[in-house]
Amino acid sequence: MTATLEYTPALQTKLPHVGTTIFTVMSQLAAEKGAVNLGQGFPDFECNPKLVDAVSDAMQRGLNQYPPMTGVPVLRETIAHKIQGMYGRRYDPNTEITITAGATQAIITVILAVVRPGDEVIVLEPCFDSYVPNIELAGGTVVPVPLTPGTFRPDFDKIAAALSPKTRAILINSPHNPSATTWSQADMLKLQELLAPTDVLLISDEVYEHMVFDGHDHQSTARYPGLAARAFIVSSFGKTYHVTGWKVGYVAAPASLTAEFRKVHQFNVFTVNTPMQHGLATYMADPQAHLELPMFYRRKRDLFRAGLANTKFKLLPCEGTYFQCVDISSLGVPERKLPEADFCLWLTSEIGVAAIPLSAFYGNSFDQHVVRFCFAKKDETLNIALERLARL
Ligand code: GLN
Repeated sequence: MTATLEYTPALQTKLPHVGTTIFTVMSQLAAEKGAVNLGQGFPDFECNPKLVDAVSDAMQRGLNQYPPMTGVPVLRETIAHKIQGMYGRRYDPNTEITITAGATQAIITVILAVVRPGDEVIVLEPCFDSYVPNIELAGGTVVPVPLTPGTFRPDFDKIAAALSPKTRAILINSPHNPSATTWSQADMLKLQELLAPTDVLLISDEVYEHMVFDGHDHQSTARYPGLAARAFIVSSFGKTYHVTGWKVGYVAAPASLTAEFRKVHQFNVFTVNTPMQHGLATYMADPQAHLELPMFYRRKRDLFRAGLANTKFKLLPCEGTYFQCVDISSLGVPERKLPEADFCLWLTSEIGVAAIPLSAFYGNSFDQHVVRFCFAKKDETLNIALERLARL
């Protein structure tokens, strides 16, 4: 008789620097401590019931089996229409738009499709925490280029200096998480000029495209033919329609790039859930929801900023996204001197407001005494948080 011995072989980690994402850590701690969660970016209010009805109708109508691998045709057509109307570029819904399970899946799939071992990929730090591990999983080399400290503006001399014959791609994100800055037309033109003589691909994360404030327009990569021709544009519905948990997004890219993207996508998620795609297509046919979004969030931004102006936090500008960054160094409490991550743990546990440290968006945990709040919350929630923050 042989004894059944349980043996789990040891694994050599592929991602030695990765733990649980800061967003999950802070949300769990906020829940445990009963803190107001201004950490992870998601609304605490409901989406429009019409959107839920549209998804429910799709289910009732029996649209519950696999959709086409590339996404439900009517949704791809609606997206093409929206991009053309807003940014003036026509993407072919059949060959140039693919529905994904959110933007995070879209980005890793792009990276797996284009990055080979030894390729360099430029990221502009601070950057969203999935980019770097994605590049590492593909065997690529991450080339971090800092955004200008203090202003978070792109430094094109530094970007130019980082380009090499090995550069496969550069990842950009505007409106920017976490700094809440947006790229200007001049920035986009400069990037276009810089990349023109190269074979470098552009991965443009535009998930906050409908949250640009103060009358400015979102400078989508789709507006710049020289960039769009080499770009994977990634966006999603979670932020725009207040449904971050639905995890539906898309990639728009020229047909030859889309073909390679789809080779990986089909063996990664294969398809994205059918009724949500139909529901989103029905709902977004009326552009009102995304056209009203800047005003909706601008009001929340202004409410939150006005409240913060009565605290000792120093406000950084907020041009887009639903994030507000603050400098903690002028607070009246000794904890202001803690590293950002420890400060956020303390703020969540002791003051009852969760925030995200900017150091989580840097490979070397660069600390500049700045933390990020999310203002995609009911006014009551923001007011409770503000009352607590005013004590510091
Ligand atoms: N994009 C969201 C944020 O920055 C979080 C997404 C996530 O938790 N992975 O807060």
